Order: sequence, then C-alpha cells, then structure tokens
Amino acid sequence: MALLETRKLTAFYRDFQALFGVDIRLEEGETLAIIGANGAGKTTLLRSLSGLITNQPGHILLDGRPIGAMPAPDVVAQGIAMVPEGRKLFPSLTVEENLQIGAYGRSGSGTWTLGTVYDLFPVLKERRNSPGTALSGGQQQMVAIGRALMSNPRVLLCDEISLGLAPVVIKDIYAAFPRIREAGASIIIVEQDIGQALKVADRVYCMMEGRITLSGMPGAISRDDIHAAYFGAH
Ligand code: ATP
Repeated sequence: MALLETRKLTAFYRDFQALFGVDIRLEEGETLAIIGANGAGKTTLLRSLSGLITNQPGHILLDGRPIGAMPAPDVVAQGIAMVPEGRKLFPSLTVEENLQIGAYGRSGSGTWTLGTVYDLFPVLKERRNSPGTALSGGQQQMVAIGRALMSNPRVLLCDEISLGLAPVVIKDIYAAFPRIREAGASIIIVEQDIGQALKVADRVYCMMEGRITLSGMPGAISRDDIHAAYFGAH
C-alpha cells in the first residue's frame, strides 16, 4: 500500500477547474518531484494534499485511509506538513518563535525538535532571536523547512524551495534532504528547476494543464519526453 495516494483527484477555484483526475503515489521513504510549467497545477496539488483545498474523502488516501475531506490542522496531525511557496514566515516573530509554531500540530514524538533543527541548519541557531524578515532568502527558506519539520511529518511537501535563491544557497538547502529522509520523512517537492528535481527525486511526475502527463524514474525519462510532457506534443 502506498503511504500517500491520490485517486482521480480534482480541484476547483470556484468554477475554474485546476486539477482533472490526478493519480499519484508516494511510497514510504520515497522522494517524488512534481515538475511542470507555470499554472500546470503543481501548487494546487500540494494544497489539496495538505488540506488547504478540501476534497471528496476518497480521492486522497494516507495509509489507505481517506483524508481528502480533512481540514488542514487535522492533516498536519496525521503527519503531512507543507513548506509553502514564498515561505510565509510570521514577520513579527523571531526565528525560534516561527519554528515553535510548527510544533503546535505535532503528530506524536519524533526526531525533530528545536535542537535537531538547529543541528540541521546551524545558522538558524545563531539567528534564533532575529525576526524572520531580517534573514536572507536562503535562511528564511531554512526556517520554513524547519517549521514544517517541527511537526515531525511523515510526508514533507515542499513548494518551489529554490525559487529566487542563488545556486550555492540551493545546494546548501538540498544538502539537508538526506538527513530529512534518514529521519523517516517521505518527500514531495515541486520544482521549477528541472535539473535539481531530477537530481534529488526517486521518481518524477510531470504535470500540464491540471493533468499528469509523464511519470518515471529520472534515469528512464529523456529530455524529449520531458519537453513533450511540459509543453504538449507539437
Ligand atoms: P506556478 O508555478 O505558477 O505556481 P502551478 O503549477 O503551481 O504554477 P497552480 O498555482 O496550481 O499552478 O495553478 C493552477 C491553475 O489554477 C492556474 O491556471 C492558476 O491560474 C489557477 N489558480 C491558482 N490559484 C488560484 C486561485 N486562488 N483562484 C483562481 N485560480 C487559481
């Protein structure tokens, strides 16, 4: 049984349909990447998985149990945490307070505490009393990841964590992923940077216009396949 699965998942913004029958599977321990052009539906898929867009119960399954109709706080308690696009830190709170907020929805015990998050990103310990907004973009992204980890997720959803960051900073952030995996999290990343996505993922899904157009292991899909799945056949 998959850890997390969608079955014919749809999503709407009022009358506008953003997802059309999306089927994905995340196995325990796996890292998935979701790639696709702007507006393909990647963020909508993550919002659906995290309960920010509620759905019919049977379309999202965690351990085979339907969670599609659960509100976001209950989804966090079930072990799914999101690192949102644009980081969304609380600007008036310090680094440490931002991290502590992540622990409110905690799903039982686990690896992640302030101490282990500071071990993962030592610069955050140095800056722990600074307001989130006083940090560099890369450091803010580390806080956003740390905040999600504080709930001890079984599934970590990451939305465009490399957006707007310098390559050396992106490398630093992705260097944390093996430790996050070792601590037991399975991961879904949404990435614009296809090279980065292919490097980190065990399996890749490509989306176009609200549908999955390609899936496979990074080594088994060609640039031409990706081009067609991104932009459609010409
Ligand atoms: P991006 O890389 O731009 O974030 P994406 O693949 O994550 O793209 P989504 O943000 O999921 O795509 O958007 C999918 C579709 O839903 C797009 O056509 C977008 O315009 C539309 N959409 C997204 N958010 C809303 C909203 N709040 N209200 C109405 N339409 C929306």
